[in-house]
Order: sequence, then structure tokens, then C-alpha cells
Amino acid sequence: MGVPNPREIACPLCGVRHRPPLKQGWNFIPCKEDHGIVVYVDEAGDIREIHGAAFSPTAGGLEIVESKLHLVPRWIDIDRVRAVIEGSVRPSEADRAAISLLMNMGILRRRV
Ligand SMILES: [Zn+2]
Repeated sequence: MGVPNPREIACPLCGVRHRPPLKQGWNFIPCKEDHGIVVYVDEAGDIREIHGAAFSPTAGGLEIVESKLHLVPRWIDIDRVRAVIEGSVRPSEADRAAISLLMNMGILRRRV
């Protein structure tokens, strides 16, 4: 086990290659100003999942659809997302990627 050697990862959204330091579990790698990459590294240090993640332009005026909470991907800390949309935490790039994905999945929606 331990920290995997840096490996080259191609961004699924734009094709740019990165050689980020990766830790076991979920990693977030910022790519361009409007998106980043989510990478899952397993216990053996192998890369198992790579996802592109666009950043949400906004974090305000949103609400969580509580009935869909069970659909939230494992890499997303929903308590942190809750704090971000309530305005008590300043969103990081990973937060903005998570918010964008949750909106696409219908787990976050605009407050009406
Ligand atoms: Zn990219």
C-alpha cells in the first residue's frame, strides 16, 4: 500500500494530461477553469474510476431533494454541499464540481 506513483491521467472532458499526486480513495484534480477530474484509487493503488466534472457557475439558490439523497455518489460529502448552498462554507473547485453533478442528477434543484 502507500501512495501510488504519479501516473498520467487524461481529462475525460478536454483530453489534457495530468500527473497529479493521488491518494487512496477519491481524489479531485482541477483541470481548466470550468471543470476538473474525479479519480478513485483502490486499496492496491490502482486507478478504478475517472470522471470529468464541470463546475457549477453558482452555489446559491439551490436546495437538496431529500428523497434522492441515496443517489449521491460516494465521493461527494453531502454535509459539506449542504453547508456550501446554505452559504456557511465558501465552495472549493471540488464543491463546484459536486454541485454541478448533483444538479445534473436531479439531487439539487433551484429553489423556486
Ligand atoms: Zn480537462
